[in-house]
This record gives sequence, structure tokens and C-alpha cells, in this order.
Amino acid sequence: MDLQSWLVRHGEAAQYIVYFSVLIGMSAWERARPERRTPTPRAARWRTNFTLTGVNILVLGALPMSFLAAADFAASRGLGLMNVVALPAWAVLPVGLLGRGFISWITHLSMHRVPLFWRVHRVPLFWRVHRVHHTDVELDLSTTVRFHPLEFPIGLSVGLPLIVTLGPPGAVLLAYEVLDVAVTVFSHADVSLPPWLERSLRHLLVTPALHRVHHSAEPEEADSNFSAVFPVWDLVFGTFRTTTRESLATMDLGVKEVRDARSWSIAWLLVVPFLRGLEDMKRGPSLAAPIVTGAHEP
Ligand SMILES: [Zn+2]
Repeated sequence: MDLQSWLVRHGEAAQYIVYFSVLIGMSAWERARPERRTPTPRAARWRTNFTLTGVNILVLGALPMSFLAAADFAASRGLGLMNVVALPAWAVLPVGLLGRGFISWITHLSMHRVPLFWRVHRVPLFWRVHRVHHTDVELDLSTTVRFHPLEFPIGLSVGLPLIVTLGPPGAVLLAYEVLDVAVTVFSHADVSLPPWLERSLRHLLVTPALHRVHHSAEPEEADSNFSAVFPVWDLVFGTFRTTTRESLATMDLGVKEVRDARSWSIAWLLVVPFLRGLEDMKRGPSLAAPIVTGAHEP
């Protein structure tokens, strides 16, 4: 059986196996050499984050549409760039991975910057929902799938038309998803790479330091590094950022307005996209301040 048919048959199971394997490995690394030592109650955060992970696994399973189904739809009707343009066999995987990476990059960027969908109390719903991920006041492997359950259906509504436009083979999508679960667990982990490795790897893969900049409580620092696996689209479009004002080991993470127990209250996180009183959180469309060059870099 070749890789393509193996991925089609076992790709989804492989995602879960890779997710839990990398989770166990990174957990050992975090325990042995944590990057940050903060007083935040880890047990409460972990309970909340992993509860959201469980809810999201159920939501993902229940959603009636998927990128894979959209790719099959495009292939069956000859739609999408990769179904129209005959690429040489060696180019299908890299082009498909880059294209899928672009869809992930632009979906994440639009959550932060574009007023898609309707506004709730003047703030775009897309950012209100994604903000749940950013309200974690620490960053470790438990943050990886700390998302509001609405983030997946909203993200699908942006991504599905783009998948049909790209028309990638299903096996390429599955290969990307396997890479995505491995790299996102790695990039959220509370670990740091040796500086020489960090500086060379961060142009190829999203590293923990790179993603920590995206979780900075400083809005202009968080307005960067939207890629999930390959940072190529941040490099191409100028949203790649490695510096922060404070050291990555001590700077505030999350959002400035939520520094208390709300951050690890599951009930508050589920309703916060619809609450009044947080309208002025300084992130979202047209609110990004100009980037100030920081002093700290791993
Ligand atoms: Zn984000």
C-alpha cells in the first residue's frame, strides 16, 4: 500500500495517535525543563483546557462537513486549481501543503483582523470566539485545543470555499492534518529550544518561541505569527515576528483585560463571546497598533 492510500484509510486515526503521542512526549519535556515558572494554578487551567479539548473532539466528530469532504466534492466535479492544472507528481505534496498552510494562515489572520460575520456588541463574533484561545494566561500543551466550540464551524465556513478553490488531493490534506497536530502541540508547549536551533528551525517550522509571541498580552506583538505549521506565509506577508519587549520567559501572556479566575472558568469561557462589557478589548479589525521593534529575542 502506498503512502497516499494509507493516509486515506488511516489518516484520521493517525491524527489522534500523533496528537496523544506528542502530548505525552512534550509533557515529559515540559516537566523536565519548563520555560516559564508562574504562580497560575495549573490544575484549574488544565481541567478547563482539557474539558474544552474533549468538547471540541465531539464537535469536530458531529460537524456535517469537513475539508476532506470538500476536497472530494472538488475532485468529483473537476473544480479547484490542483484539479485543473496538472502538476508533476513530485510537486503535488509540497504545493498542496503550502496551499493548505495558506488557508490556515488566512483563516487565523481573519479571526484577528477582519470583521467577518456579524458583530456582537460592536466586536466581530469571529474575534470574540477566537479570543477564548487567547485568554489563557499561560501557554503550555493544554492550550493547544483550548478553543470555543464555535471556532471550528466558523473556521470551516471560511476554509471550505478555499479548499474547493485549491482542490487538493485528500491524502495531502490528511498529511497536513497529521503535521498540524504534531506541530501545534509542540508550538504551544512551555519549552524552549537552544538558541542556535531556534534561529534555524523557526524559518521552517512554527516553534514554541514563535508561537509564544502570538500569545503575548501586548496586542501589537500578538498581531503576528498566524501560521500553524510552516511560517512561510508570515514570512511572505510580513507578519513574521521574533522579538518582544519583555523576555519570552517572563512576559504576560493572554489578553490584558482578563488576568483572573475567569480565564480558567469553563462556564465563563463558553458564554464570553456573547457577553457585554468586554467591547473595548484592544484587538481585532483595524485596532492593531504599529509593530514596535522589541529588544528580546531567543
Ligand atoms: Zn490567534
